[in-house]
Amino acid sequence: MSAMEGTGGEFEMSWIGWPGSAVVDAKRRQRVQKELRESYGFEPIFLTQEEVTGYYQGFSNSSLWPLLHYRMNFMRYESEWWDCYRQVNSRFAEAVLADAREGDLVWIHDYHLMLLPQMLRKAGRGLRIGLFLHTPFPSYEVYRCHPNRRELLEGLLGADLVGFHTFGYLRHFRSSVIRLLNAEAHPDHIAYNNHKCVMGVYPIGCNATAFKEELHTPGFSRRRSYFERIYEGKKLVLSVERLDYSKGIPQKLDAIEKFLETWEHASKVTFVFISVPSRGDVPEYQQLRQEVETRVGHINGRFSTVDNVPIHFIHKSISFTDLCALYSLADVAMVTPFVDGMNLVAKEYAACKPDGTGALVLSEFAGATDELFKAIIVNPYDLQNMISGLRDALTIPADDKHRRMSSMHERVITFDNRYWAHSFVTDLSHVTPETSRRRRPDQTEQQVLAKTAQAGRIAFFLDYDGTLKELQDDADTAWPTAPIQDLLDRLAQREHVDTYIISGRKPDDLDSWLGHYPFTLIAEHGFLYRLKGHKHWQPLDAHADLSWKSQVIDVLGKFVGSTPGSYVEEKASSVVWHFRRSDPEFGQVKAQQLIGLLQDMLSNVPVRVHHGKKIVEISSLQVSKGAAMSYFTQNRRYDVIVCAGDDQTDESMFRLEDERLIKIKVGREETLADIRMDNPADFRNFIASMVNVIGTSR
Ligand code: UDP
Repeated sequence: MSAMEGTGGEFEMSWIGWPGSAVVDAKRRQRVQKELRESYGFEPIFLTQEEVTGYYQGFSNSSLWPLLHYRMNFMRYESEWWDCYRQVNSRFAEAVLADAREGDLVWIHDYHLMLLPQMLRKAGRGLRIGLFLHTPFPSYEVYRCHPNRRELLEGLLGADLVGFHTFGYLRHFRSSVIRLLNAEAHPDHIAYNNHKCVMGVYPIGCNATAFKEELHTPGFSRRRSYFERIYEGKKLVLSVERLDYSKGIPQKLDAIEKFLETWEHASKVTFVFISVPSRGDVPEYQQLRQEVETRVGHINGRFSTVDNVPIHFIHKSISFTDLCALYSLADVAMVTPFVDGMNLVAKEYAACKPDGTGALVLSEFAGATDELFKAIIVNPYDLQNMISGLRDALTIPADDKHRRMSSMHERVITFDNRYWAHSFVTDLSHVTPETSRRRRPDQTEQQVLAKTAQAGRIAFFLDYDGTLKELQDDADTAWPTAPIQDLLDRLAQREHVDTYIISGRKPDDLDSWLGHYPFTLIAEHGFLYRLKGHKHWQPLDAHADLSWKSQVIDVLGKFVGSTPGSYVEEKASSVVWHFRRSDPEFGQVKAQQLIGLLQDMLSNVPVRVHHGKKIVEISSLQVSKGAAMSYFTQNRRYDVIVCAGDDQTDESMFRLEDERLIKIKVGREETLADIRMDNPADFRNFIASMVNVIGTSR
């Protein structure tokens, strides 16, 4: 909220959100709604008490928050919470859809609404959808523990733009998406389910204008003078944070206790803790409060004198004016979270130091550290390091202090909350729907159907995996499902139609899944074929040179050893190294290594090394799907030849020049085909409509 304040005015905005309590009474709801709408232009979404418990306190704050902050020991999970989370996200979706017009930007905030982007995308309303995650995104090894890890990622990937505070969080998100969804990841975007989700880094800034203005008000001067009098003769060390376990407060108190034991001027230092109450309904927070209060009591009991109390502990929110006065006066700010998405307190402290005074002790685990690297950086898990950081902050020479603070002040004033909001919204507005970025097909579906309607004899050369059938994680389970069988039955029943299934698979698979159809089956990218009505397979070119295979198999065997999850498949005219089950990034690295090695080794051998989807295939140059298609079409009188495929090996068919050809690509990669289908389901529907019109205008 602190960051979003002050971003108004730049855009015409409407806000949709939960007003923050369970307003049960209907009359009161109406009053709250009216006032929020009329006075602020806010659209409230009221939650029931069960939703507050399940969605907010439960799923969001007791399950996601600890997960995102590496506090796995605090993570709790109940399956009803998940139902509730989905339900509330869909209520937000309804509210957005009731309000938004086509082309509007929808900016979703934070982990409470991770499913909302996908829900909005599915509504197909042409919205440009961005989500900013205000927390860290943890390492894959932590994130993977959550029971709903995949659904949450799929929810986020519905966005056109997902923003993070730091590149570290982006990197972890990307790594989780690659590993859990097997998505295609690029440095700056993820392609998943025919949608492009751009990832960006937008470090949030504080409301610098509000702080700058406050420092010039009479109220501020009054309060600052008052605090000066109170803390006269003392070094003031300030801590401001929500009472949250991610902030490392007990460990900070440990460091302070040790510091007070050894610091010769201990009575001249006062620690002020502004500990903002937070999530008091969650048991872990109640325990933390008890623990912190006990430790503060213990330290004060141990080190207080008649005229000095070392820690002033305030468990409440203070006014903005007092906050500014304390920031401005404090000799040191101690910001030492275990993990923190950004940490605005650190930036606000620097914003209140235009004169370059003060020193910031900052945890290396706060997102702000990437920018505020001139602070005294400490590791909150290292007690000695914390103590020496505090000592350094109290003794740092004035000119060094000035140099550091001035540079940090400059940074936070320039890159403030407005800058942050502006850059996110600008990037979001530049995102154009992915469909309009694609290469326009040379032929429209209508033109193709018209050509088909006039055709007498027609041939279909159809690739199987990724074209007729959706790609499967386990290649052995890719048998034809009912919609595929239905389409193949229709093709089989058509007179004047010859169907060829042209695949990279081995004969056995094609036999068992498709052997009963009256089709010609072509296996191993065109090396082997089985004519319609026959059971016998034969090579297209019996003289192809395959002497290189044993040497290649030896090399691939070594890669199987060094790449867990990978294996070798030997075919009649090719050898394939599969790494679909290996770590995706490691698999990719090893694939590159393997390709380099094979290219050197096989430079004078007639083979092609093909890097496909999670495979490296080494096959004879004398064999290709294009060559097989030419062989079967050259002496036959087809009026139209349809060829379709989804990967590089199918491009050999698309490369052929023949005016009878209709070339169909399934998927988004670059292609020589002239018409494109997004996925196998769309492709099947299109072929079904072709089958319907065949020969209708003969
Ligand atoms: N803050 C507040 N009331 C107070 C003291 C501080 O609202 O009594 C504000 C503070 O100015 C800062 C925010 O709380 O903007 C804390 O944000 P931060 O990013 O440091 O941590 P978070 O609470 O988001 O984890």
